[in-house]
Amino acid sequence: MSIRKAKGYRYGIHIPDMKDLTKDKPIEQFPAPKKVYISLSQHIGAPANACVEVGEYVKKGQLIGKENGVVSANVYSSVCGTIVAIEDIVNDMGQKQKYVVIENDFSNEEILFDNIKDFEPSTLIARIREAGIVGLGGAGFPTAVKLTPKNQLEYLIINGAECEPYLNCDNRLMLERTDDIYKGICYVAKALNITKIIIGIEANKPEAIHAFKCFNDLDVAILKKQYPMGSEKHLIYCTTGRKVPVGKMPFDVGVCVQNIKTMIACYEAIDLNKPLTEGVLTVSGNGVNEPKNLKVPLGTSFNEIVEFCGGAKDNVVKVIAGGPMMGRALIGLNQFTRKTDSGILLLTNTEANTNEPTNCINCAKCANNCPMRLMPMFIEQFTLIGDYKSAEKYGAMNCIECGSCSFNCPARRTLVQSIQTAKAKIKEMKQNAK
Ligand code: SF4
Ligand code: SF4
Repeated sequence: MSIRKAKGYRYGIHIPDMKDLTKDKPIEQFPAPKKVYISLSQHIGAPANACVEVGEYVKKGQLIGKENGVVSANVYSSVCGTIVAIEDIVNDMGQKQKYVVIENDFSNEEILFDNIKDFEPSTLIARIREAGIVGLGGAGFPTAVKLTPKNQLEYLIINGAECEPYLNCDNRLMLERTDDIYKGICYVAKALNITKIIIGIEANKPEAIHAFKCFNDLDVAILKKQYPMGSEKHLIYCTTGRKVPVGKMPFDVGVCVQNIKTMIACYEAIDLNKPLTEGVLTVSGNGVNEPKNLKVPLGTSFNEIVEFCGGAKDNVVKVIAGGPMMGRALIGLNQFTRKTDSGILLLTNTEANTNEPTNCINCAKCANNCPMRLMPMFIEQFTLIGDYKSAEKYGAMNCIECGSCSFNCPARRTLVQSIQTAKAKIKEMKQNAK
């Protein structure tokens, strides 16, 4: 074991972390709701195929969506009850997705996997795949795919940065479930045949840093409080000194990065034989009466979660799924929890700037702070006139959507949204060209 200060990087920003609202609040179990709406597309890749029918009775932990290809993931019921609908619902990203709607009968019977037959890497990876585990930090990439790289990797890095303001779920898990995280890490390291393991934790979480000091085979890297430290490329550079080139992936430089919640899901799948049916998230912001950290069944309505937290105050001006930097602004709370959710924020006008954008004043603040060294103002301008080829030339596809540019812009330009549009259009153009 070693404990050391990690490197910093040159750009990025320093933002108030706003974590005090929930930092000391233990994770509470949210009571199972009367109805859950479980999306069959909670991951990157092909949506799962419904393998149940309307009217069928299912138990908690029963497979309801079967993975549909290599990059896909199984989906399990989070309650016991009757399937009342399998229907299309438009999600917060405006995409129509298939949801399985289950009416809970509160009998709480649970289906578990059989004990695994051995602890060989292939068996561990097969279990992680079967359990429907995906990157729970937000990416939603199927974990089993990440555990089968084409080359032998050297480092496993656990991302304990949680650099998004307000969010505290990883921090609380590192304190409350340290041993379970460690067991999950050991299984994943075994699956990858890696002995060099680093857990990177931001310096503003001293208790979590202390909690992981006791494991001999784990290096603890204390990360500078700097946004976006949790970005894979920056985390890899700060902990190992390796640079992931543009267009390349962590495995190209011999590294696999995994998230805290994903490690707990791996532990539960392997040791407790449980598929992934619940998520942990932070409900925060000055617009919610009782901010909390909660463990919630997948498919729970955001409305019910906010009610459980004492309801919303009258002065809420913005609702966000996730953190304020990378999360998605919502038009309401009519959404349902997914595997990758990490927070629901209700922000007041002192916390969220709702001013309308004005013209760009060419101050270059956005470019000066971009951790990927892009020129967001130009990418936005090209996007606005529909010149996506030029947006691509200016590196739109390398944007990690961290939100640092928008945060700094005195003209309140919606730079990230423009870049997201450009990325979607560029992908579409490439697909059409094939
Ligand atoms: S352009 Fe992309 S990577 Fe750069 S600051 Fe903006 S969101 Fe972050
Ligand atoms: S920070 Fe805003 S105003 Fe300044 S150059 Fe960038 S887009 Fe323009």
